[in-house]
Amino acid sequence: MPDREGRFAGKVAVVTGGGSGIGAATALRLSREGADVVVADIDGEAAAKVAGELPGPAAAVAADVSTVAGVDAYIRTALDRFGRIDLHHLNAGLLGTMAPLPDVEPADFDHVIAVNLRGVFLGLRAAFRRYREQESGGAVVVTASISSLRGAADQLPYQTSKHGVLGLVHGAAMYGAPRGIRVNAVAPGLIPTGIFAASGLADRAATLSRRGRTVPMRRVGTVDEIAGVVAFLFSDDASYVTGEVVSADGGAFMVNTVVRSGGSGAWTPED
Ligand code: NAD
Repeated sequence: MPDREGRFAGKVAVVTGGGSGIGAATALRLSREGADVVVADIDGEAAAKVAGELPGPAAAVAADVSTVAGVDAYIRTALDRFGRIDLHHLNAGLLGTMAPLPDVEPADFDHVIAVNLRGVFLGLRAAFRRYREQESGGAVVVTASISSLRGAADQLPYQTSKHGVLGLVHGAAMYGAPRGIRVNAVAPGLIPTGIFAASGLADRAATLSRRGRTVPMRRVGTVDEIAGVVAFLFSDDASYVTGEVVSADGGAFMVNTVVRSGGSGAWTPED
């Protein structure tokens, strides 16, 4: 393969949850910009399909991010195939139960925390061990959420896990800063992806599009709009950015719910 060009030429990236949605879009973006990419997903077939369609060198691995064995598997795949790792996008996640608080089963709570929070902890730990081993700096981007910053009544385990990842980002960024390791998060708003497939929403596409109209930009986002922020955070343009949580939500986070002119989720399509 000839030398590749782009912001990430010569870099090796791992993307967890890369088999679909935001992770697949990031894998494509990083590959187009020159990175060698490892696509990790619990759904090995989906990971292989994404990796097979990337324009540059790529590998796929079936890995459950909530387990030490799964994290070892994606690190080993990257090292066996490419010899090092420079960029980790810790993105795998699921929505989980949307039951109201009195009805949340402990096992359902534990499952969401295991994937969305423990998975990020294990991924950060592995990334930091790798950078130490390589005696290199590096970068990590975690996919947080508007649910890291706001509350909702029907996403208790999910928003607990997403609030928790900010603690990991801040702690890791503090530890990494003097070592040349940057750790940031992207906080997407509403992005139609497979994550809503298990949510039981009737007429999912129409419901998401209607919700999108309550956003200041009056629309949902796209996976490419998140991948662009992730790529920025990985790039040298963000060389002085660490511990930051970048919202990519069409302005949803800034809504002032107590005044109508501030939003109140009260837009009509004509507004
Ligand atoms: P998605 O369902 O399309 O992609 C998530 C991927 O993670 C899937 O391919 C899935 O197989 C994989 N995955 C799930 N559990 C896993 C595990 N244990 N180990 C490895 N892989 C696993 O959804 P998405 O919207 O692209 O989600 C990506 C990230 O974005 C998640 O962390 C999610 O919480 C976050 N996010 C999404 C939105 C949104 O509106 N879509 C908003 C905010 C944050």
